[in-house]
Amino acid sequence: MTTSQRLYQRLLQLDGLSYKAYKDIQGGYQFPDFTLIIDHVQGDPFAAPSRLRVKVPQSKAGFPLGLYHSRSRAIALRDYLNRQFEQVASRLSEKRGSGKSGLIAIAHPGQQVLERSAIWVNDQEVEARFTVGLPARGRTILGRQAAELLCQDLPDIVDAALKYASLNAKAIQHHVEVVEDADWLRSQLPTHNLVSFIPNGAILPRQSGVDDAPLKQGAFPFHSPPSLQVEFDRPNQGKIAGMGIPTGVTLIVGGGYHGKSTLLEAIALGIYNHIPGDGREQLVTDPGAVKIRAEDGRSIAGVDISPFINHLPQGRSTTYFCTENASGSTSQAASIIEALEADATVLLVDEDTSATNFMIRDRRMQALIAKDKEPITPFIDKIRLLYRDYSVSTVLVMGGSGDYFDVADIVIAMTDYEPSDVTAQARAIATQYSTDRVPEGGDDFGDITDRIPLPKRLDSPPEGRQRWGRDRAPRGHWPQDCRSHPYPRTGRSDGGDRWQEEDTSSNAEDIASYRPADRGPKLKVRNVNELVFGTEVIDLAAVEQLVEVGQLQAIGAAIAHLQHHYLDGRRSLSEILDAVIADLEEQGFDGLTPFPQGDLSCFRSLELAAALNRLRSFAVHQFV
Ligand code: ADP
Ligand code: MG
Repeated sequence: MTTSQRLYQRLLQLDGLSYKAYKDIQGGYQFPDFTLIIDHVQGDPFAAPSRLRVKVPQSKAGFPLGLYHSRSRAIALRDYLNRQFEQVASRLSEKRGSGKSGLIAIAHPGQQVLERSAIWVNDQEVEARFTVGLPARGRTILGRQAAELLCQDLPDIVDAALKYASLNAKAIQHHVEVVEDADWLRSQLPTHNLVSFIPNGAILPRQSGVDDAPLKQGAFPFHSPPSLQVEFDRPNQGKIAGMGIPTGVTLIVGGGYHGKSTLLEAIALGIYNHIPGDGREQLVTDPGAVKIRAEDGRSIAGVDISPFINHLPQGRSTTYFCTENASGSTSQAASIIEALEADATVLLVDEDTSATNFMIRDRRMQALIAKDKEPITPFIDKIRLLYRDYSVSTVLVMGGSGDYFDVADIVIAMTDYEPSDVTAQARAIATQYSTDRVPEGGDDFGDITDRIPLPKRLDSPPEGRQRWGRDRAPRGHWPQDCRSHPYPRTGRSDGGDRWQEEDTSSNAEDIASYRPADRGPKLKVRNVNELVFGTEVIDLAAVEQLVEVGQLQAIGAAIAHLQHHYLDGRRSLSEILDAVIADLEEQGFDGLTPFPQGDLSCFRSLELAAALNRLRSFAVHQFV
């Protein structure tokens, strides 16, 4: 293996050459304290940055086994090191003021502690995966800067962020203990028949609608009503008390702006662990909880929404419901059925983001519009059957209709951000003022039918467009259909189908570097709301429990993986989801990608299903 001095010399020699000459440094280098692996060198300063790894042997890194011996702790430690690496790297970049060229970047964690592919720790070594914008002026190599970046800054980052001796031992210990306790608390929910635990003292409100950090000023700490209080004795931090939300149907009521949605959102994100100081770091929720909302405009592929919707105009099927443009109510119905298909155990529903006609149909409306003229069976008439038939609980924010008192096990009122248990009062009121509604839900919830996806390419181009001839496709290149930006052609402007063969374009680099599998589709993630998969943009804005771009990156890779391995026209969607999750468990993130990537974060099969279900090219068999 080449030594770091040789790399230094080589980079100086490259100074002033054209950017492509950087390709030369791909490979492995032995530094005094670590190995540097340059996996991929960008072909162009404007392309996706180069991908690098460092491996620091434990003899130098020195992390005690106690910090990573359990799965919880290992994920927490990796998350901690990820944050340290990012902090040190951004400090150095700021110091240099070099912009994107010269930037060392690693996965950006938010408030959640997730398993990510950026950092790995085992008995042998600590590995960090990151990207570097190799320095250039125009398209000319800045060799000295590159040499300083890789041979001076990088060792500084390794020293400061990946060696136990230079880190705050107390803070690391606290980080892993908090995360381990949260996992432990979550594991206790089923035996206590709870869907969520919200500790006393938790800070639920966030800094702003675009800032997930805790509200700094005027945040009112959570405090459980006595009747719902439960207590746990955690392995690391001992006793903790808070509100337990039991399985069944729970209603959260209260005046506007009194903290209902904030509570529900915190519950929704309780499927994840949070960093110490977040305010929600010991708030835990059943990992099968899914936030459901109306999402008009989404596509729906052959979902049996008949538990909720029947007798649509023009005799449209509701047992195999397809649309390119769902309404509020049909989208909400489909999202519930899809969640159940993917084994959801709890539904979280907020009136703020629900279709009114899906949620309620009161006595007067029943009198005016007969049942056979209204396709929708409202949620109120199915919510108990869902729990009875499928053991799926619901936590529902509903300040606008007391009709739900009849179907709730527990009613929690939020007043000035303070919860109280008003179940008894709500029952008394329900007896005193009858709704006079006629129940419309029938005898049971209805079947959740398995869907079998069609074995078609999910990234195929829109119809009518010319298809790229496979045999002529050079490696690493994709047809125009699979791209969002124009691709330079060689010497032809007549609409011919030959693409530039030489690997000189930044676009080619961009695509090659992010192809999740050999011959896989192009993936691009700009933010947590949008995943570009092949030609399609999957709109994930309504999938509220996605929190990091790395999750979308991983979901994109997973869709490419399942398209390649499991989309055979025989497996059901739930079998396919299970197969992908099993592969992830067995092979880790690297099983999803052709080369080690540092930009993946873990996701649930529920969000993978949500992304697939919103992919407009996704289709399923129809059974008669
Ligand atoms: P609702 O759904 O009841 O109308 P929200 O949950 O949207 O109310 O909360 C209204 C506002 O109050 C939001 O700006 C939120 O950040 C803030 N808020 C919520 N809970 C608290 C709290 N415990 N302490 C301080 N502010 C809070
Ligand atoms: Mg609200």
